[in-house]
Amino acid sequence: SGLQNSAMAEKPDPVYWKDIGGLVAAKNALEESAVWIYKHADAYKRLGIRPSKGVLLFGPPGTGKTLLAKAVATESSANFLPVSIPDLIKGEVGESEKAVSRIFQTAIRCSPCVIFLDELEAIFSSRDTTGDVGRKLISQFLIEIDHLDKVDKSVILLGATNHPESIDNSILRPGRLDRLVYVGAPNLEERVQILQVLRNKTKVHPDINLEEIASKTEGYTGADLQAVIRKAGLLSLKQNLLQITQENILKAIESVSPSVIVE
Ligand code: ATP
Repeated sequence: SGLQNSAMAEKPDPVYWKDIGGLVAAKNALEESAVWIYKHADAYKRLGIRPSKGVLLFGPPGTGKTLLAKAVATESSANFLPVSIPDLIKGEVGESEKAVSRIFQTAIRCSPCVIFLDELEAIFSSRDTTGDVGRKLISQFLIEIDHLDKVDKSVILLGATNHPESIDNSILRPGRLDRLVYVGAPNLEERVQILQVLRNKTKVHPDINLEEIASKTEGYTGADLQAVIRKAGLLSLKQNLLQITQENILKAIESVSPSVIVE
């Protein structure tokens, strides 16, 4: 179709707000600035308010940024177009810019659509190493973002980064990714909530004590907790158990280190 190698919009495995533990403030901010655009498009038009075009999610790895982006798509019945920025900038000179244009064309064609720009900082580090080439790519990006104003289609941008300090101001101006949402490591209560989500997806013993697990996993992200449960699953499998036990989860915690250092 001439769109070879270009990003494809998809309906991902549905992720609902309830599938994400904790992150209440982040979910509310996204509901307001991203989901409402699809749910209340007519109201925005009537009131003459220009909806936000994009949100930058920032925070440590494994805390649920990708999950949140997918949930925005699911909760607003939009398509999801994931873009890995490091993959994008790997392309040859000139090719990357064309790919950027194609991404936005695809999103417009598949609207309502969420474009998810993962590891967004990579586009800015490309500037130093390749000079003009990096700059051209960034300006292509900004052109495409600004162009969305002219096409009256429901396309929203969600960027994600672990390195907000590397993100250039140009992309954070009003009308671009003008809302910042922090996605942090979960506190005790949030870890219980994440464990509840994970429990509902796996075969764990009914009298598992989530509070005890949460209290022993300070600094563990959602991804870390998932790794713990997976490890506990393997231990239980080796013991021919049909369910994951508390004992195996506690054992698994010792072999998975926390991603976030707690002071
Ligand atoms: P990265 O910055 O490394 O891309 P991320 O912030 O995008 O990480 P995700 O890919 O969303 O993190 O999370 C990885 C996995 O960890 C998810 O697929 C999910 O299974 C689990 N997970 C992370 N955070 C949560 C959460 N808050 N609730 C439930 N599961 C979570």
